[in-house]
Amino acid sequence: MTTSPFTLEALSEKLDQLATFTAPGPGVTRLVYDEHWCDAHLWLQAEARALGLAATCDAIGNLWLHDPGLMPGTRVIAVGSHLDSVRQGGRFDGAYGTIAALLLAAELRGSATPVAAFVTCEEEGSRFPMALTGVRGLLGQLVPSRCADQRDRDGVRWADALASARARGCAAEAPPDGAPVPKLFNAARQLELHIEQGPVLESMGAKLGVVDTIAGYRRVRARLTGEARHAGTTPMDRRRDALAAAAEIVLAAEALGLETGAPAVATAGGASAEPGLYNVVPGTATLLLEVRHTDDAALVRMEAALGERARAIAARRGVAIELEVQSGEAATPLSAALADQAEAMAAGMAIPYRRMASGAGHDTMAFAQDGVPALMLFTPSRLGISHHPDELTKVRDLWVAAAFARELLLAWAKDLA
Ligand SMILES: [Zn+2]
Repeated sequence: MTTSPFTLEALSEKLDQLATFTAPGPGVTRLVYDEHWCDAHLWLQAEARALGLAATCDAIGNLWLHDPGLMPGTRVIAVGSHLDSVRQGGRFDGAYGTIAALLLAAELRGSATPVAAFVTCEEEGSRFPMALTGVRGLLGQLVPSRCADQRDRDGVRWADALASARARGCAAEAPPDGAPVPKLFNAARQLELHIEQGPVLESMGAKLGVVDTIAGYRRVRARLTGEARHAGTTPMDRRRDALAAAAEIVLAAEALGLETGAPAVATAGGASAEPGLYNVVPGTATLLLEVRHTDDAALVRMEAALGERARAIAARRGVAIELEVQSGEAATPLSAALADQAEAMAAGMAIPYRRMASGAGHDTMAFAQDGVPALMLFTPSRLGISHHPDELTKVRDLWVAAAFARELLLAWAKDLA
């Protein structure tokens, strides 16, 4: 039996090691099924075995790190996060929750209710145009044959990328066509440790975020069509300028976010215009618009208000507009009871904490939507920076949440025994 190195030093050292599995360039680039992702996956399996755990892959490359005595189908307390990153992301997003979960699963072996670490293969949607595929697979909701033909930006098919990872020992056998990924364990409760990715905890001097809600979002593409005309000869009052209308919509989105107030946010994340020349009034423009809110009804109202304002602006300028919803995710409440319990424990341990919502999406959303009582714990992010090479959380702060998670999981194990 190996003793668990549940220490600040082990956490720090293993995070440093995980960060070495990256494509060249600034920050960390570890995209699902790529060479560096496979290297990280194999390293993690070896680390788990060295700590006396079994490492079991599912059919799409999610990983469970667990007591070797656990039978498939066992009811477990699931703790974990994701292995993939965005392009040129940071060292902590996903990685922190993954390493913390590895150490916690080793530390809590033999607890009253089994604690197993999960590591999802993909959360970010940074290689293929689908996010949260890992956790959907983990929960038995994903049918691999339906994703097979999705392609990355180099034209590689999802199924082929997965097959190459499988050949390296990073995924189990594929299920038959039309069948979902077989579920390995059943989560009775779920916990994810994650960096905040925003400035709230740092600015308040809090060390721990107890997350009780994850914001939902709607993404809408606006296509504006005016008239491309000579920029030198077309008088100002005779133009139907698609880009000028788009510019006004960008500001209307910003105003909507400000008026609605926190936690609402509204963003125009992309804008393009054609033909894109100095001397031509733009004939078409495209905007990528997104609204987020922690309350689903409010989110629906924001989406409607944004559409109304955009249509009014386009109509006034004689520009046609098409609004197309590209994707969305419902605002997801996590377990209020588990958040209450965590709050009481944090207060009892004199940890400066804040109960809060997450503005970013996470694997935990899928567990909560599946009916699993779920909770997230956040650590402060320096200047709120994330999805960027400068992402940083002090090791001491990472340790505060990990040590807190140990106590919380022990309490959960007793609750469920
Ligand atoms: Zn993440």
